Amino acid sequence: SLHDEECDYLFKTVLIGDSAVGKSNLLSRFAKDEFHLDSKPTIGVEFAYRNIKIGDKIVKAQIWDTAGQERFRAITSSYYRGALGAMLVYDITRRGTFENVKKWLHELREYGNRDMVIVLVGNKSDLVDSREVDAEDGRSLAQLEDLCFMETSAKENLNVEDAFLQMITKIFEIV
Ligand code: GDP
Repeated sequence: SLHDEECDYLFKTVLIGDSAVGKSNLLSRFAKDEFHLDSKPTIGVEFAYRNIKIGDKIVKAQIWDTAGQERFRAITSSYYRGALGAMLVYDITRRGTFENVKKWLHELREYGNRDMVIVLVGNKSDLVDSREVDAEDGRSLAQLEDLCFMETSAKENLNVEDAFLQMITKIFEIV
């Protein structure tokens, strides 16, 4: 199984952001190439693994999903403990999820590693007609806060691979 496969590095990374922005679907798209129309009501932390080859090294990315805990403001410091990277997700069709990015950054800086790699992701880029956040807004916030930035669609599988790989290769460069 994946768990027993040999690897050179194990990187813990976390998904954060408001409820229903698409965190679980980004993860299932990246880890299993699956997309689900209904959000999972599961409560409790879940994670998935994917092995990535960088040069001649094998990196095992362990990606944690909040699995709904953010709804209860119940994400605890153990969620962030040891995480080298974070994917901070908002929904481009709901302005409020973008306004809350600052709140999530604050929490990351409170609980997370100081040099955590953070990728800001505007998800649901396929929903062009209901867009409430311009790509430019995401880009300038990312620039201001010194984050990587990307718009994705877990549904259409756009940039999902790129967003995770950007986070993981960036971690690889600093460890
Ligand atoms: P989470 O609560 O942040 O984990 O969000 P989920 O992954 O459960 O997704 C919430 C809802 O948004 C579900 O109904 C998904 O099918 C939908 N969704 C997630 N990603 C996308 C996307 O890229 N495009 C569209 N159109 N819907 C998405």
